[in-house]
Amino acid sequence: MEHNFEKIINGMYIDPLIFTTKFVKACDVCLCSGECCYYGVYTDKADYEKILAEKDKIIKYMDDSQTKDSGKWFEEPEIDNDFPSGIAVGTEVHNGKCVFLDKQGFCTLQKMAMAQGEFKWKYKPLYCILFPLVIFEGVLTIDDEHIDRMHFCSKSQNQSSTVFDCTINELKHVLGEQGFEELVRYKDEYFEGLKQEESEVEAA
Ligand code: SF4
Ligand code: SF4
Repeated sequence: MEHNFEKIINGMYIDPLIFTTKFVKACDVCLCSGECCYYGVYTDKADYEKILAEKDKIIKYMDDSQTKDSGKWFEEPEIDNDFPSGIAVGTEVHNGKCVFLDKQGFCTLQKMAMAQGEFKWKYKPLYCILFPLVIFEGVLTIDDEHIDRMHFCSKSQNQSSTVFDCTINELKHVLGEQGFEELVRYKDEYFEGLKQEESEVEAA
């Protein structure tokens, strides 16, 4: 796939929109109810298998708004090259939300990892970790279609930060520490380039 993006880090093109797009400073499920999880998510086949291997434990952390029938947790697998295994599996929606979202707006997969003293994102699908970022056709970019569906974090009056500033840990997770340092250098160069363009326009 051909792109106009200049920078590749960790095998992904970087869309500079991540530096400039406004977003909320931090997620607050008391304000948004975790609505980004209302639609379910696509997981890599490996994550899907990891989740199913833990099903008995996951069930213990679910509440009465969730289905404890693991046969109803996932859709049929499908081919998708944006996933490392080349196969994506969607989570099902139950009671108007992802099967793993509890009634307080928390992800059961993250809740379980934290309760067990494990890394909080151990069981969480990459695309859940990344949002409002997304990897689409090999480009790390903004998930603007999904952002537009939101009622809290999509509103300019709530957006006092940028996607970059509010996803530093997520970016480190997907790019690695070295990749993140490279991203910061690219960000500085990008803004320097914008300044230069502006001064050339003013001087013309
Ligand atoms: S991304 Fe938006 S909808 Fe999702 S938890 Fe954060 S603020 Fe809420
Ligand atoms: S797996 Fe967890 S984070 Fe992902 S959509 Fe479902 S509830 Fe939300």
